[in-house]
Amino acid sequence: MSIFVPVFVLMAGIYVHIPFCASRCSYCDFFSTLKLSEMGAQYVEALLAEASLRHGELRGETVTTLYLGGGTPSQLPLPLLSRLINGLGEIIDLTQVEEFTIEANPDDVSREWCVGVKSLGVNRVSMGVQSFEDPILRLIGRRHTAAQVAAAIHNLRDAGIDNVSIDLIYGLPGQTVESWKESVRQAIALRPKHISAYGLTYEPGTRLWRQRERGEIAEVPEDDCLSMYRILVSDLRDEGLEHYEISNFALPGYHSRHNSSYWNDTPYLGLGAAAHSYDGTTRRSNPHDLNGYISKVMAGELACEIEEMTRWERYDERVMLGLRTARGVNADGLREDFGDRAWRHFVRESEPHIAAGNMRVVDGNRYVLTDDGIMLSDSIIRDLMWDD
Ligand code: SF4
Repeated sequence: MSIFVPVFVLMAGIYVHIPFCASRCSYCDFFSTLKLSEMGAQYVEALLAEASLRHGELRGETVTTLYLGGGTPSQLPLPLLSRLINGLGEIIDLTQVEEFTIEANPDDVSREWCVGVKSLGVNRVSMGVQSFEDPILRLIGRRHTAAQVAAAIHNLRDAGIDNVSIDLIYGLPGQTVESWKESVRQAIALRPKHISAYGLTYEPGTRLWRQRERGEIAEVPEDDCLSMYRILVSDLRDEGLEHYEISNFALPGYHSRHNSSYWNDTPYLGLGAAAHSYDGTTRRSNPHDLNGYISKVMAGELACEIEEMTRWERYDERVMLGLRTARGVNADGLREDFGDRAWRHFVRESEPHIAAGNMRVVDGNRYVLTDDGIMLSDSIIRDLMWDD
């Protein structure tokens, strides 16, 4: 893992979930619907109603990041997007936002769309590319082609949005280690500032999961997936992209400030159906039910369920999220916030992993996973959890 340590300003972020897609990708189990034309306008009004109800949860913290995720936020027509952003700006002070990201599908990224979102303040676009192999894109139900990705990036740059992130998936059916290497090469050739790459998981109930159950597609062997991950890490590192989180890589200065707030225990307010919020001690989650969400917030009621986290749940969260990042877990901070007992547990359980070369201690108190440790991150994190 690189020794890059980003400097984070701990402020608040806002996440807005846009749960509309033009079609369903076969691997996806995110909360989304195909009912944009029917429900888009009332959903935007519901988001603004929820923002009015909940902006106090930000406790006056300066909002520095705004993230529109989905679903497919780029499906929202520009007039609705404009209503949403301008309406939010009347409720919450967005003048200090430094990073405003919108997720987009490449086939939505027309010249007109780029100019429109730029005029609304968007300065970062995160694009769901997934693969550069057209047959695989078709198999997993993506609507775009590899050629459309290049055109989209061109349109974004023309409109003055150069801060582009690309999402990729490895372990897709039909992918080989060689074809993945070529996808990584094509991603690099487009010169994005940021790349996120995730291993495919077969989520129960998805179309892809059913295809595998019926024997219509074959899972990529685990060893090949590991090779794909190693290629990703080494090829991106060779190009100067810093590996700052297990699945995330960025050119210097271009880490995702918004997503970093999730990994750094920074409060964020999540608006919209299925959105989550966190204020340092409490998690709030909105229902995965569009009609239920809209009718509640439009009636002036909170739609979220509230879960007070116990001290040990917060410890587990701190350790799990910290180990995913290049910053690692600050053992002194752990001791300060959770006491000697938690600190001793953490240090003791880390020792065998340090001896095995899967963890190391940086600057005397930051515990980080090594490259080999990243491959075993799930089991290492399990060992370090509090199991009272
Ligand atoms: S576009 Fe994104 S959210 Fe929508 S179905 Fe595909 S992967 Fe899921």
